[in-house]
Amino acid sequence: MITSQNLVAVFLAIAVAIEKDKDRLSELDGVIGDADHGVTMSIGFTAVKNALAGLDLAEAEPATVFNTAAKSFLKAVGASSGPLYATAFMRAGAAVKGRSELDRDAMVEAFQAMARGIQDRGKAERGDKTMVDAWLPASEALGEAAGKDATLTECFEAAAKAAAEGAEATKAMVASKGRASRLGERSLGHMDPGAASTALIVQTMAEEVA
Ligand code: ADP
Ligand code: MG
Ligand code: MG
Repeated sequence: MITSQNLVAVFLAIAVAIEKDKDRLSELDGVIGDADHGVTMSIGFTAVKNALAGLDLAEAEPATVFNTAAKSFLKAVGASSGPLYATAFMRAGAAVKGRSELDRDAMVEAFQAMARGIQDRGKAERGDKTMVDAWLPASEALGEAAGKDATLTECFEAAAKAAAEGAEATKAMVASKGRASRLGERSLGHMDPGAASTALIVQTMAEEVA
């Protein structure tokens, strides 16, 4: 079972992972965007970390953890990833509202709500070369694994693998959403930074729920 405390630990681990890979993410964004993706994600997850530190975890339910993350991320991040991740966390909060702990199915629901939220907010389709190209395959792999009675850990391992493959696949895509779409064909051959950070986030989730 995933408690509020476990969930906070997942967010803190993501903040550490993003911090470690910040330069690589900004370099990827430097090729097809404005070179700030590592910085924006770092600012966002640092804000989340600080906001979560103010929660009373004996009282806060998982939905509150997600909602606190959503508000702080939105407030801190001006870039396009701000509203996308804020929506994702908000939707995850709504998906688990009223539960004091999250079992495998609740975690799957929360994750899938995040993926849907990002797609609803940004209106990107698969193949547009955005973070959606990592979030959607991850969400599908998670659902598929859960359907085969895999454990929580196995489900998230499957999602992490799919997110990494999805990020890799963006190299062969021409961007048609976000800043990189201005490059057209010149975006070919380069990994989308938002998909790269998604792979990192889902990999960190898999390690933390194990
Ligand atoms: P900005 O482009 O405003 O500088 P970031 O650099 O933080 O924001 O994030 C860029 C990433 O955001 C892109 O690599 C892409 O994955 C993602 N992105 C941009 N627009 C959209 C969208 N409409 N839907 C989904 N993801 C998007
Ligand atoms: Mg950018
Ligand atoms: Mg920017």
